[in-house]
Amino acid sequence: MVKDLFLSVPSPFNLTRKMLFSRGLMRDWKKALTLIMQPYGEVVDRYFREEKVKAPLVWMAAQSGPPPTEPFTAPFLLWHPLYHEGGIARPRGGSGILTQALQRHIEAHGGRVFTGTAVREIVIEQGRVAGIKIDEAVVTARRVVAGTHAVETFERLLPPSHRPSGRKRMRLGNGFGAILRLALDAPVRYHSFPGDDARRALQLICRDRHQLSAAYGDYLRGEPSRDPPIVAMSFSAVDDTLAPPGGEVLWLWAQYFPYTLAGGRSWDDLAGEVAERIVDAFEAYAPGTREKIVGSLFQHPLWLERELGLYRGNVMHLEMSVDQMFGFRPFLGMAEYRTHLKGLFLTGASTHPGGGIMGASGRNAARVVLNDLERRRWWPGERWGS
Ligand SMILES: Cc1cc2nc3c(=O)[nH]c(=O)nc-3n(C[C@H](O)[C@H](O)[C@H](O)COP(=O)(O)OP(=O)(O)OC[C@H]3O[C@@H](n4cnc5c(N)ncnc54)[C@H](O)[C@@H]3O)c2cc1C
Repeated sequence: MVKDLFLSVPSPFNLTRKMLFSRGLMRDWKKALTLIMQPYGEVVDRYFREEKVKAPLVWMAAQSGPPPTEPFTAPFLLWHPLYHEGGIARPRGGSGILTQALQRHIEAHGGRVFTGTAVREIVIEQGRVAGIKIDEAVVTARRVVAGTHAVETFERLLPPSHRPSGRKRMRLGNGFGAILRLALDAPVRYHSFPGDDARRALQLICRDRHQLSAAYGDYLRGEPSRDPPIVAMSFSAVDDTLAPPGGEVLWLWAQYFPYTLAGGRSWDDLAGEVAERIVDAFEAYAPGTREKIVGSLFQHPLWLERELGLYRGNVMHLEMSVDQMFGFRPFLGMAEYRTHLKGLFLTGASTHPGGGIMGASGRNAARVVLNDLERRRWWPGERWGS
């Protein structure tokens, strides 16, 4: 059911239909709905006994942002079985290879891709989209699909008179994750699992759910977590394009880290200290890592905003809480990939089903645009495929 919901336009009709005709729900809908409404930090207790199994599952579910205690978040845990269906894939060279492949595909079909220059404005004429402005040049188009952050689209790219008032309801949150990217001159070695198998896996380092709750407590106080749980990734163990022979790349994703810090402090002053703290937390499991470091980049919430345009350092664009999911993402009335303006469509992490590298929102949005093109084919004044 979760997969079906992800790969659907989140209209009330679609959601009701999917829920009614989902076999699991029809059989025992009261049980299923109660389950979905629960926080993922508790739902795990229904299926597992040992904390060493529960903690990594809950830590994995926490990657979307909301804390383990938040109601209606059980799907963050319950979609994990989907990995058994689709498998886990990773492009050789890293996820940036996906966009390069997409660019080649577009160009092979006669499209043009502009990089290195920002869209300045979405051009509106007589209440409908007429194109986009790149620098001073206008590229005309009858349909524009904005994959930009919803704040960028609604607050900056649309002319002021066309900005919908609902945009003020979007909640950006206060950051939550940060990643320390390390280059090592030797492979990672865990104290308890010194072989190469541990390097090849996604390494979920979380003692128990108390550690996660404590980290979230720090975050609520406006403090970077003092004892952060970590997801360690050493993809050079499975991809020899990432590091020279004998070297290693080690990504340490950690939570929770607020964008706005208590006491008016700035990430510019705190970044070095917090990065050291993350290395300390990792050293407890893989001693000797610090001596192997030959390069580092700390992508903390302020860095993410400055360098990647992720407002308030939220890697999911908008909070992934129930008030901003399904038909409420990015906000009510703008959630089915269409907008208030003819010809303007939305996609990406700001739309259903939110952030993550899965392509679901792009697939859903493409279907909506194709339907629109198909429908307009029969209307005078519209050329099919424009
Ligand atoms: C550090 C980090 C770690 C992550 N880890 C994971 C992970 O392990 N697994 C996972 O599934 N997801 C992960 N994510 C989340 C995932 O990367 C995002 O949810 C996903 O990339 C969102 O894709 P998007 O295309 O919707 O938005 P974005 O990636 O935010 O892309 C929006 C693009 O719009 C561009 N843009 C903005 N304004 C303009 C303009 N005016 N003109 C032209 N272009 C513009 C931006 O430069 C950007 O390239 C991570 C994110 C970060 C930052």
